[in-house]
Amino acid sequence: MAESFDLIVLGAGSGGLATAIRAARHGARVAMLDSGMLGGTCVNVGCVPKKALWFAAQLAHAQELAGEYGFSSTPGPFNWEHFRQLRTDYIDGIKGRYQKRLDEVGVHWRREAGRFVSNDTIATSSGDELSAKQIVIATGARPHRIDVPGFELGLISDDMFALHEQPRRIGIVGGGYIAMEFAGLLRALGSEVTVHARGRLLGGFDMEMVGELEQRMTEQGIRFSRDVQVRGLHQVDGQLMLDDATTGGCGPYDAVLWAIGRVPNTESLDLDAVGVKLGKYGRILVDAWQNTNVPGVSAVGDVCENRELTPVAVAAGRRLADRLFGGKPDARLEHKHIASVVFAEPPLAMVGMTEEQARALHGTDVRIYRTRFSPMQWAVAKHPGQTVMKLVCVGPEELVVGVHVLGLGAEEMMQGFAVAMKLGMRKRDLDDTVAIHPSSAEELVLMT
Ligand code: NDP
Repeated sequence: MAESFDLIVLGAGSGGLATAIRAARHGARVAMLDSGMLGGTCVNVGCVPKKALWFAAQLAHAQELAGEYGFSSTPGPFNWEHFRQLRTDYIDGIKGRYQKRLDEVGVHWRREAGRFVSNDTIATSSGDELSAKQIVIATGARPHRIDVPGFELGLISDDMFALHEQPRRIGIVGGGYIAMEFAGLLRALGSEVTVHARGRLLGGFDMEMVGELEQRMTEQGIRFSRDVQVRGLHQVDGQLMLDDATTGGCGPYDAVLWAIGRVPNTESLDLDAVGVKLGKYGRILVDAWQNTNVPGVSAVGDVCENRELTPVAVAAGRRLADRLFGGKPDARLEHKHIASVVFAEPPLAMVGMTEEQARALHGTDVRIYRTRFSPMQWAVAKHPGQTVMKLVCVGPEELVVGVHVLGLGAEEMMQGFAVAMKLGMRKRDLDDTVAIHPSSAEELVLMT
């Protein structure tokens, strides 16, 4: 007979963990299954190791700036392997803490995959059956692979964190978050980088801000090859050449990174057994409450159609657990005003609408405020580079519907403005706010 639980969570990444822990805290008996690593993409091969590398990249920039400030030490080379070990230790610490929390709240965590037998029964890969009235799919997504000759000669983002040596020359295919982030941080750490993008960079971000970022990255020596039509990858004398229908061949490279989007992990779940409906690109369709079309089956995180961001998965999972087991029937994630940062060089942060989105929706009712300035930390040393900020406002009340920052500290600035936007911030509220001086963030309340 199947072992019975209140909730079965498929997937032990950010969304799955958040759902399982919150439900267990509410007193639910929870089983969580995943054949992969505790923490999923974000902790193991995503946000966390990437941000660690980004910090290393900031230190590389700081070394350069320190010289300009008058420090005598000469910037030294980066020890990639030493840092990889530090990163691994840090991540092991996070996973240890997750394990401890799971033990504390009594989640029954099994390191194996599960597949649907019915809408309340899951078969595990070791042959057991588990049953629960509620099943949450949180199996995430994985890097997209395309069927071109030599694809396997390149790397996917997961592989980047396992490299024991920093690639000296790298070609990056794609123009999204992952491409732009790796391009920036690898360049800062000394690699020669070429980004091969087929369309616009960073779809979803404000076009003007993306143009500014591209310019900054170009000034740092990052090359952009645009309108590419990648046909494959081949090796010549141990070096990689990218076959591109637009430019012919590109390279040689020591490594090529495919950063061309992610696809949901649904294939092994036997969703057909219960008839869970999939949407665009095979992602699970959910309503505003994370319900799939099958009673008792919900989904959170990158496996479903929503923004592929860890905090979105976590927030959706916690609210779902609150609704199912915490006596909060109205709990659900509001997807408006979710801030996001591309950890590029410099970082680009945004919350709300882009100028294009606002103009499409509100036409001539849109008013844009923008400012650009040399951040003091750079200006003191006559270091080139500017910060750009932009407010997108709508209507006679000048409701702020979009905030965009490209520059030093953008990643830390945006969170508070996301709160203010949720509260209905108008331009005059910014005008009424006394600045913190001297800072970069103060420019957001000083725009005229
Ligand atoms: P994105 O969706 O951000 O970008 C994919 C890029 O690959 C696009 O530029 C797309 O071009 C391009 N592309 C797709 N197919 C091909 C192809 N066949 N040949 C050439 N280019 C191609 O995906 P990422 O993989 O960068 O990241 C996945 C998601 O993970 C992000 O969307 C984001 O939600 C999340 N993420 C968030 C981060 C953060 O919060 N800082 C960091 C990293 C990832 P086109 O636009 O023309 O389709």
